[in-house]
Amino acid sequence: MKFVSTRDKKTWVSGQQAIVQGISEEGGLFVPECFPRLMPLGELLNLSYQELAYEILSLYFEDLGETSLQMAVDAAYDEKFPTEVVPMHSIGNSTFLELFHGRTLAFKDMALSILPHLMKASAEGLGEEREIIVLVATSGDTGKAALEGFSGAKGIEVSVFYPDGGVSEMQRLQMVTTQGENTYVCGIRGNFDDAQTGVKKIFADPSFTQELMQKGYILSSANSINIGRLIPQIVYYVYGYLQLLKEEKIKGGEKIHVCVPTGNFGNVLAAYYAKEMGLPLDRLIVASNDNRVLTDFFSEGIYDGDRPLYLTSSPSMDILISSNLERFIYHSSNEDAQAVMDAMDSLKQNRRFDWQSQIKDPSIYAYMADEVAVSESIRELYLEHGYVMDPHTAVAYSAVQQYRSETGDSAQILIASTASPFKFAGKVLKSIGHEVPQDEFKAVEDLAQLMEIPVPTAVQELLELEERHRDLCQPEEMEEMLCKKYLRGTND
Ligand SMILES: *Cc1c(COP(=O)(O)O)cnc(C)c1O
Repeated sequence: MKFVSTRDKKTWVSGQQAIVQGISEEGGLFVPECFPRLMPLGELLNLSYQELAYEILSLYFEDLGETSLQMAVDAAYDEKFPTEVVPMHSIGNSTFLELFHGRTLAFKDMALSILPHLMKASAEGLGEEREIIVLVATSGDTGKAALEGFSGAKGIEVSVFYPDGGVSEMQRLQMVTTQGENTYVCGIRGNFDDAQTGVKKIFADPSFTQELMQKGYILSSANSINIGRLIPQIVYYVYGYLQLLKEEKIKGGEKIHVCVPTGNFGNVLAAYYAKEMGLPLDRLIVASNDNRVLTDFFSEGIYDGDRPLYLTSSPSMDILISSNLERFIYHSSNEDAQAVMDAMDSLKQNRRFDWQSQIKDPSIYAYMADEVAVSESIRELYLEHGYVMDPHTAVAYSAVQQYRSETGDSAQILIASTASPFKFAGKVLKSIGHEVPQDEFKAVEDLAQLMEIPVPTAVQELLELEERHRDLCQPEEMEEMLCKKYLRGTND
């Protein structure tokens, strides 16, 4: 299996290289040259999550070798997760795929628990002796999941930039209390798009990367632009389908829909990959919050990121430049790398591009949920079914309601449930109509009482940890902060 660049099909690398490098030299993203076929579902039906992960990953990352891949899977999906790695909760024909039972209580753990192991094995396989600096821009959840995943990893440093004031208090605390000698966290006075643009700029600055190399460092990425994050996300869609089959909620071969709350389009793209591999998925329902840039793109064919960014109660989706859409437009345009290149140039220069002339994918449905719809969805679901969801998942749930009422379709829908409600306790309590205590930890306790479950240890721990990372900078200063840290060693 080769991985080609979305902007130049002649540029290709091995799986190991794609993981270590993160992004192609001319700025494109790596994609598999073709989609491997999934094994017959009957053969996969009784596999554990770990076994299934191994089977799917081995279709893409052959060059890692069986032993390394097996070790990566075992190290990733161990007791960090409950026995059931991905619990599911059905309400009628809608099933929540709970992807938030990892260490940091968001779905990012599903991929970031394994990426460090894939990266280490790949670097070894390539004979790479330099130290890898993993650069991360985060809208809230990727940062902590990467810090947690990479913390203590030998030969890898991880540096995270988050928008100061643009993440929830729980998300901020999770990041700034991170331990581990190889971790660095810095807030930027800007939004997520500024952080993401800053990271991309650093990757594209040859003089800086040269200087790092002389010091024995190379850069890589843990954002969903890294193919090593995307592929592990395919696993849970296959797993979810198989569970529905086992529980006889669907029949063999029956097509279901998937609904995913979206920011960078990574999670929903993984569902698209699963479908291309032969999983019987029909429609992909793309759910956005007030930052409805993808809703508009799928209805009008024009991507327009030139608009104000709203800070919502689903901060991990407060994004205007959706990185993984590049992979989707590449695949869905019959791999027209030139058109992708032109679109991305236009996006860089004008924050927009026109995709109207390309064939539309009729299986994509896109909806948005504003803040009122989010609160109402949380409240309704709790009052009617006693089930509590976080605001990101609520965006998806609202999209499902809109889809059903618009189409009258009652087919089974798998909803990607992306964060634990405990990460957003205040918002959840408020939506339900509960009084919201000033103190976030008190809110967490109130929520635990309401849900009749204990406070997750990952949240409890934060109370006792010291805030270790206090750096803040302007978006233009990100490179300077890294210089201080890695080239001159003057940061704390
Ligand atoms: C990152 C994130 C999303 C958006 O996922 P993308 O892959 O960027 O589309 C949704 N919900 C939560 C809780 C997240 O952390």
